[in-house]
Amino acid sequence: MDTVWVLGDQLNRSIGALADADPDTHRVLLVESHAKLASKRWHRQRAHFVICSMRRFADELRDAGFEVDHRRADSLGAGLRDHVDEFAPDRVVATEPASIDGLAMLRELGVETVRSNQFLCHYDEFADWAGSRSSFKMEDFYRWQRKRLGYLMDADGEPEGGRWNFDDENRESLPKDVAGYPDWPDPQVSALDDLDEAVLADLPDGCWGADPDGTWATSRRRALSRLRHFVGDVLPQFGPHEDAMTSHSWHLAHSVLSPYLNIGLLLPGEVCDAVQEAYDAGRVPINSAEGFIRQVIGWREYVWGVYWLWGTDYRSRNELGADRAVPRAITAGETEMRCVRQCHQGVHDRAYNHHIQRLMVLGNLSMLHGVDPWALTEWMWSSFVDGAEWVMLPNVIGMSQWADGGMMATKPYAAGGNYIDTMSDYCGDCRFDRKQRVGDDACPFTTLYWDFLARHHDTLVTNPRVARQVRASERLSDLDAVRERAAEVRRRLDAGTI
Ligand code: SF4
Repeated sequence: MDTVWVLGDQLNRSIGALADADPDTHRVLLVESHAKLASKRWHRQRAHFVICSMRRFADELRDAGFEVDHRRADSLGAGLRDHVDEFAPDRVVATEPASIDGLAMLRELGVETVRSNQFLCHYDEFADWAGSRSSFKMEDFYRWQRKRLGYLMDADGEPEGGRWNFDDENRESLPKDVAGYPDWPDPQVSALDDLDEAVLADLPDGCWGADPDGTWATSRRRALSRLRHFVGDVLPQFGPHEDAMTSHSWHLAHSVLSPYLNIGLLLPGEVCDAVQEAYDAGRVPINSAEGFIRQVIGWREYVWGVYWLWGTDYRSRNELGADRAVPRAITAGETEMRCVRQCHQGVHDRAYNHHIQRLMVLGNLSMLHGVDPWALTEWMWSSFVDGAEWVMLPNVIGMSQWADGGMMATKPYAAGGNYIDTMSDYCGDCRFDRKQRVGDDACPFTTLYWDFLARHHDTLVTNPRVARQVRASERLSDLDAVRERAAEVRRRLDAGTI
C-alpha cells in the first residue's frame, strides 16, 4: 500500500498525487503540525479555515472509500515518521508543494513528488517563458496565457471585445449614493457546526482576531456554492469599482474566492471556465469578465511564477533600507487615521481586505513609514485568510514595498491622502485633513508621501514613472516643515499614538 501525503493547501481530489489514487492501493496522510501552528501569530479565522478544511477533506476522502490517517504531530516531519512507523507504506508520494521550503522538506524526508496541476502555468513553464525574454512584464505574460488557454479569445484568435485590457472601465471611484448602492450582493454565509467548534477549541491562545462567522467556506461543496453565487450574482458588477474602498461594504463586488483557490478547494481552471461560460451566455459584460480573468490567469499565476523564479533570496530584499516595526495602527487598529482603522477592522473581523486596501492603505503606509518589508510580509501572511508565502513575497516585498528595487513593479505604489480620498469614502469623517501636509491636522499619508519622495530622492529621481513627483517634492516651499512633521508622525507611529 502506498501513502499519498496531502498538505493543508492541496485539498482537492484532482490535484497531482491524489488524482490517480485509488482506495484499494493508496492510504492518505494529513498532518496538523503543532510547530506550524506555533510559528506565527495566526489570525483565528486563517488557522480555523485551514484546519477545518483539512478535517472536512479527510471526511470526504473517507466517504470516498479511502483509509485516512489524519494525525496531529509536533511537526510535519514527525507526523510522517509516526505514520511510517505505524503503517510501513511501500512508498510515500505527495503533490509538489506550494512553497520552496516545503519542497526542500519533502526532499529531505525522501518523499517522492508528483507534478502539481494546481496552477494553470507550472513554475517551470513560467521559467521557460521568462527565460526567453529580456523583460517579463505581467501584461505580456497575461496575453500569453490568454492565447494558450483560450479564455476570452474570439474565433480569429483576437481578444474578445477587441482589447486585451479594460482597466479604464474598471477603476471608477465610488458611486454617488454609496450608502444605498444596491449592486453588491451579500456574500453567502454558512452556519457553523460541531466541527467548527472543535477546531476553534484546538487553536492556540496566541491566535488573534474575531472568531469565524461562516463567511469562509471550509468544504469543496460550499466553495463551489460560493463560486456559483459569484458568477451568477456578483460578477456582472465586478469590474467598475474593483479599486474602490468604502466603509459601507467590506466586499463590494469582489469574488472573495482567493482563499479557496489558495488551498485547493477550487481550481483556477474551473473558476475561469465558469466565468467564460457566463460571458458566452451574455450574462456578464466584457469589462467584468476580463477584469476577473486577468486576476486569475494573469496576476495570480504571474505571482506564483516569480515566487519560484526569484527564490528565497527575495525574502531579504530591502532596496529602501526600511527597518521599522509594523505599527500598532496596522496591527491593532489603534489610530485616528480612519482609512487604516477601517482596513484593520476588516482584517480583525474577517481576516480579509481587498487588494487596494492591502496595497494603497496598509502597504502604502508601511512603505511611507519605512517598515521592514519582511516584517510586513509575515504580518500579512499570518493575518489574511488567503495568505501564503508565494502570494505574499512578490505582492508585499515587490509590489507593495518596492523592496526589490523594481523587479516586480516599475514604480513604488506611494500615494498621499488625495488618492485615498478619490478611491474611498474614508476621508470625509476622518480627524485629519487629506489636503494638509504640515500641522497637527495634516493627513499622515500626505505628509509622509512628500517626505518619502524627498528621503529617497537619489534612488527615485532616475525612475521616469516618479521623477516628476520627486522633482515636485524638491520645489515644495515648506519642505523643511514637512520633514519635521514627518519625523513626528513616524515617531508617533512607532509609539502607537497617532
Ligand atoms: Fe486616511 Fe488621511 Fe483620508 Fe484620514 S485624511 S482617512 S488619514 S487618507
